[in-house]
Amino acid sequence: MKNISILGSTGSIGTQALEVVKANPDLYKISALTAQSNADLLIKQALEFLPLMVVIGDEGQYLKVKAELSSTPVKVLSGEDALCEAASIAEADFVLTAVVGAVGLKPTIAAIEAGKDIGLANKETLVVAGDLITALAKQHGVRIIPVDSEHSAIFQCLVGEENNPIEKIYLTASGGPFRGKDRAFLTGVTKAEALKHPNWVMGAKITIDSASLMNKGLEVIEAKWLFGLEPDQIDVIVHPQSIIHSLVQFNDGSMKAQMGLPDMKLPIHYALAYPQRISSDFKRFNFMDYPELTFAQADRETFRNLDLAFIVMRRGGNMPCIINAANEVVVNAFLQGQIGFLQMSDVIEACMDNIAFIAEPSLNNYLETDRYTRIFAGELVTKQVNYNQN
Ligand code: NDP
Ligand code: MG
Repeated sequence: MKNISILGSTGSIGTQALEVVKANPDLYKISALTAQSNADLLIKQALEFLPLMVVIGDEGQYLKVKAELSSTPVKVLSGEDALCEAASIAEADFVLTAVVGAVGLKPTIAAIEAGKDIGLANKETLVVAGDLITALAKQHGVRIIPVDSEHSAIFQCLVGEENNPIEKIYLTASGGPFRGKDRAFLTGVTKAEALKHPNWVMGAKITIDSASLMNKGLEVIEAKWLFGLEPDQIDVIVHPQSIIHSLVQFNDGSMKAQMGLPDMKLPIHYALAYPQRISSDFKRFNFMDYPELTFAQADRETFRNLDLAFIVMRRGGNMPCIINAANEVVVNAFLQGQIGFLQMSDVIEACMDNIAFIAEPSLNNYLETDRYTRIFAGELVTKQVNYNQN
């Protein structure tokens, strides 16, 4: 029996993880669940899975959750520090990090320091502080098992290849809803259009990131840290069918790919069960539904974010932290209708140019960089809003 805590249990990844847990009651037990503001779903999940602890981030909803769970032994906590408590609860063996954004950094550190294996969906944490997180995981002897489908694919391809040099990896990208479009088209795209992903149903932030190709950019940096690669060893290839989830090319020229239908439950299921594979009733692949798998070059000129991510990966230091914080601000602003689709990259680039570079940041440096960048990006967004209004 594996005891699992899920940070962000009410989200897209969190709810799918709970479906996997529910389908395997003899294998998994829930230790802690957390949500930010969706108290109703958290209460429902708590009544069903009876964890030891739940955390509701929004303190205004604490009393409601507490009252609804008063007849159960479930402990209810609220506030920022509580997320770290859920991440390090003694009974858990495994923590699935499925919160969205850099807010996952501190609880992921808490989980690693408490010796928990990590199922990592929250890619922003590795983007922000990949050096610290991977070093800490090594120090505490904990495994980081990727949940992101591309990284799960690479991870699966590498099983049994521990001593064999990787020449290169290819992360596949669907290209998102605006594949093939030019900048003139992108100027006017709406939030509703950007939220329509062709192959995956996901949370709002990652869906916008997929439309702008920032998601692939974040994944490039995530891959660098997960697999210990040099920037030149990572490439991106557009594969609109999302069947090949990513590929590894070894030093003899041979390539391995991992395939499957685009369903996040597969990589979640794999991460929870690792190192075993356990049976599932997920829909099986039918070749005749996909008579052609196609590939194309990513258009880094139109989708500037992907290029910016490669630039910050090469520069290192706190640059990936800057790009991540700026991106969180602009995605939010785009979702609020404050700035246009292409303006997102402009603000991000201005942050890259203006926030002080730190070559070897400490945790504190990362937290400060994150904070300053959000302020700076927020000011740029406000200027843009004023400009748009005049
Ligand atoms: P969602 O927006 O669907 O869910 C996010 C979860 O985090 C919710 O439980 C939410 O609570 C909680 N949350 C939001 N803000 C905060 C906060 N400030 N503090 C604490 N908790 C918070 O996101 P996804 O499930 O789509 O994505 C989660 C992570 O997984 C992201 O890092 C994403 O990049 C990654 N990922 C997602 C994939 C997908 O298919 N969805 C695929 C690959 C990676 P509440 O519901 O109460 O708001
Ligand atoms: Mg992915």
